[in-house]
Amino acid sequence: MTDLTLQGVRKEFDGVVAVKNIDLHIPDGAFVTVVGPSGCGKSTTLRLIAGLEQATDGMIQMGTQDVTGVEPKDRDVAMVFQNYALYPHMTARRNITFGMKAAGDFSDEEIERQVAEAAAVLDIDDLLDRKPGELSGGERQRVALGRALVRDPEVFLMDEPLSNLDAKLRIKMRAELAKLHSEFGTTTIYVTHDQTEALTLGDRVVVMNDGRIQQVDSPQRLYDFPKTRFVAEFIGDPAMNMLPVDIARNGTDYEAVGPTFRITLPEGDGLEAAAGGQAILGIRPESLSVADSADRSSFTAEVTVTEPLGDSLLLECRTGDQEFKLHAEPRTAVKPGDQVALTVDAERLHLFDSQ
Ligand code: ADP
Repeated sequence: MTDLTLQGVRKEFDGVVAVKNIDLHIPDGAFVTVVGPSGCGKSTTLRLIAGLEQATDGMIQMGTQDVTGVEPKDRDVAMVFQNYALYPHMTARRNITFGMKAAGDFSDEEIERQVAEAAAVLDIDDLLDRKPGELSGGERQRVALGRALVRDPEVFLMDEPLSNLDAKLRIKMRAELAKLHSEFGTTTIYVTHDQTEALTLGDRVVVMNDGRIQQVDSPQRLYDFPKTRFVAEFIGDPAMNMLPVDIARNGTDYEAVGPTFRITLPEGDGLEAAAGGQAILGIRPESLSVADSADRSSFTAEVTVTEPLGDSLLLECRTGDQEFKLHAEPRTAVKPGDQVALTVDAERLHLFDSQ
């Protein structure tokens, strides 16, 4: 096991800057997920760590060793890919042992012992003599994991390893990956475009956009305290409502003023400077609720869509030309076209620059 440090890492491909000056520290034994939209530089970052790409600038360190120019085979990392990358003409057993045999450092007994151990952990004992074509997607991915496990690397690098599996299997494999990590404690970096996967698996989550790191935090802190508008909109489903507002001073209070509402803001840094200007008010769907009756702290909106989800009722509403979503109590008696009074949990508001 080891920790990993990226310092000022940049990668350019013929004019396309895929990774822009990344600084990142991954502690020993952590399970770090890297999430962001397609093309934001996640895979390139992982490939740079693996040594499959060379950084244009910057340094990558594993433990105390500078590995920036080191060949992939000398980095002591094992990578698991979305497409499994198994040799089709070899059995599962050969696929798993191939690397160990090629290295020539292990006795046959040692190889056999390692395979048996990995097969038991991954529950693939019965599949070892089959070729990839005779295995399901989930089984193939287990074999690919087995191949990574027997190498006993310092770091696991996983690039969307579950993307080719159906939803049910993905959830099952997710739980198994979490279990494997708690058993072995190997430092793991896991790239995904799926925020649920990123939040459920990672003890730290790196959110990337456009080649840059937006925020590195625990899943809950990312959700509760997004540092940028991008993170606020990317993390959470349905997404955070984003309402353009004016910031106005009212006595000692500050208010977010929209076309049809005035919401008193909790005290916060920067409000004095923001007063008189425009901002984006971020409200999570669960921070809005339908009020019994209108009062000073509520505003009126028209319900446009109702979606019963069982444990809540998702409402889409409109006030003026602004639309937003909220989770109401499951049996709230409202239908499209109704006017409802809404209150906001003022302690859970977010404010972003309007640019
Ligand atoms: P992600 O994994 O987040 O989808 P990638 O790291 O694969 O993003 O890609 C980031 C950007 O770098 C994209 O614009 C992509 O087209 C570009 N890119 C990635 N690999 C190469 C390459 N080998 N040659 C040229 N451009 C590349």
